[in-house]
Amino acid sequence: MSLENKETPSAPSDFIRDIVARHVAEQKYPRVHTRFPPEPNGYLHIGHAKSICLNFGIAREFGGVCNLRMDDTNPAKEDVEYVDSIIEDVNWLIGGWAEDRLGLKPQGKTPETISGDGKRDFYLSSIFGTSEAERIHSAVKLEPFYASDYFDQIYDYAEKLVEKGSAFVCDLSPADLEFYRGAPDRPGKDSPFRNRTPEENLDLFQRMKAGEFPDGACTLRAKIDMASPNIWLRDPVIYRIKNAGHHHTGLKWRIYPMYDFAHCLSDYIEGVTHSICTLEFEVHRPLYDWILENLTLPRALPKQYEFARLNLSYTVLSKRKLLQLVEEKIVTGWDDLRMPTICGIRRRGVTSEALRAFACNIGITKYNGLTDVAVLEHTIREDLNRRALRRLAVLRPLKVVITNFPEGKGEELSAVNNPEDESAGRRKIPFSRELFIEREDFQEVAPPKFFRLKPGGEVRLKYAYIIKCDEVIKDASGNITELRCTADLDSKSGGATAARKVKGTIHWVSAAHAIDAEVRLYDRLFTEAEPEKDGRDFKSALNPRSLEVITAKIEPSLKDATPELRYQFERIGYFTLDKDSRLSTLNHQLIFNRTITLKDTWAKEAHKAA
Ligand code: ATP
Ligand code: MG
Repeated sequence: MSLENKETPSAPSDFIRDIVARHVAEQKYPRVHTRFPPEPNGYLHIGHAKSICLNFGIAREFGGVCNLRMDDTNPAKEDVEYVDSIIEDVNWLIGGWAEDRLGLKPQGKTPETISGDGKRDFYLSSIFGTSEAERIHSAVKLEPFYASDYFDQIYDYAEKLVEKGSAFVCDLSPADLEFYRGAPDRPGKDSPFRNRTPEENLDLFQRMKAGEFPDGACTLRAKIDMASPNIWLRDPVIYRIKNAGHHHTGLKWRIYPMYDFAHCLSDYIEGVTHSICTLEFEVHRPLYDWILENLTLPRALPKQYEFARLNLSYTVLSKRKLLQLVEEKIVTGWDDLRMPTICGIRRRGVTSEALRAFACNIGITKYNGLTDVAVLEHTIREDLNRRALRRLAVLRPLKVVITNFPEGKGEELSAVNNPEDESAGRRKIPFSRELFIEREDFQEVAPPKFFRLKPGGEVRLKYAYIIKCDEVIKDASGNITELRCTADLDSKSGGATAARKVKGTIHWVSAAHAIDAEVRLYDRLFTEAEPEKDGRDFKSALNPRSLEVITAKIEPSLKDATPELRYQFERIGYFTLDKDSRLSTLNHQLIFNRTITLKDTWAKEAHKAA
């Protein structure tokens, strides 16, 4: 059975897709080309999933391509661990959906072989000219692009700006730089080094590159306008000295381009047409355009478009804060199941199809807002309801003895694997005299609307008999330890009284046949919808009950569970087998993680509180 349904519906249209559609109609570009450009300084989260689905979705819908590019211009915070996780997560998210839209990284060409204008064009034609088959073939390997592969070219472009008098080397200290820059309501002030000659600047810039100066001694700045109301245009720094090794380029560089300088040029070098980013970059757009326009480049220039980032209730979405949760061991790692990271969500048992459906359906707008995490949870439930195999499991067991069922007798009952999918078939579940039911399915003093088991009351055991509670057994301290019941032995499917109606149906497992499993009940990580509201410390809103670990009694067929399959423990929720099952702290062979409860318990709580 194929697990992932490949048919993620196309996203509804939005203002960015409208622009792209217009460009396609006008044949403005030979081909639509987008990119997803993470900085490898952390793991991807669900906000990135929105951006991935937007960029790959557009490539998919308009017959274009999308590059995965590491925006790796800051060696200090980046790491190959992050690069590897990004590749894995993107692969998982778009696999079976849009991987044939991946931009092809030219094989066997290194940055050294492609610097200089003529060679650069060769490089580009190799991107544009590849056959579809070759691209798909290489896409299977999902080789990302790296901004750091363009450092030579980006350096050449910087020299061009220096030569034409549009960039200068500035010796102001970082603090002075900051002060001279002014603020939105305070004009900036020209650097005393602003009028160095191009020759002097070129010499200094080359010496920066050669490693003659320590960190912070000077910077290369674009010469734009210190009086601009947009502070990003006030002679922004485009290169800085950092005597640091880089995860991709090693010790080759002593100077590194700033994000704003590298980003637009990487887009141009790759032939990107639509450079889509989040709203906070809107104020950078004039700089993006200024850099490209001042280099008199031969090909069509990429254009930047901004959309509102995803904010999700009960969640923090910032790599810096997620790193803090990991480093302070508040969670067990980036793939802790409570994390909003793609790897955490995947480990929790959410399918890539569900995550894509969420990312595609929340819509693309120009206004920042807060998406209710219940929307995500609803999407996950809908998806799992279609695919999950139904199983019986009892989380908090209470023993039931069926006194009129012979000792030593066993019976096999037939149960449906998935009412939503006939092809999933049926299975046998063992029944015997001693069973476990859920503790909360019995109440000694039951309220009027309690339709489960109570003294003298009747309930149906799912797929089995109607039972009646005759006697409640307690220990010395008054705790209920066992129920003694009688079964209507004609009431199972096909029997004389099978049609008899009782109000409640509960789940159960046979005590002799059930197996013990570690079950991890995960819940939201935060108790507040906006953990960071009004500048409060997000850690003050942590949910102390975000994880509970218990031993459950589960039906024996689950011994063959695999992490790829999804399960619904009937009446409880959706569960998946953890990949580290043999590491159970409770010494069981199986660990099941709760992906999500069957119903939205938080909505019920909120309703009660209101
Ligand atoms: P964070 O703000 O979480 O630290 P970031 O913006 O620094 O993330 P990048 O690696 O720069 O992370 O992001 C890669 C791409 O993903 C960028 O184009 C960015 O705009 C986009 N992106 C990041 N966060 C979100 C989000 N919450 N919703 C939508 N897109 C996002
Ligand atoms: Mg960023």
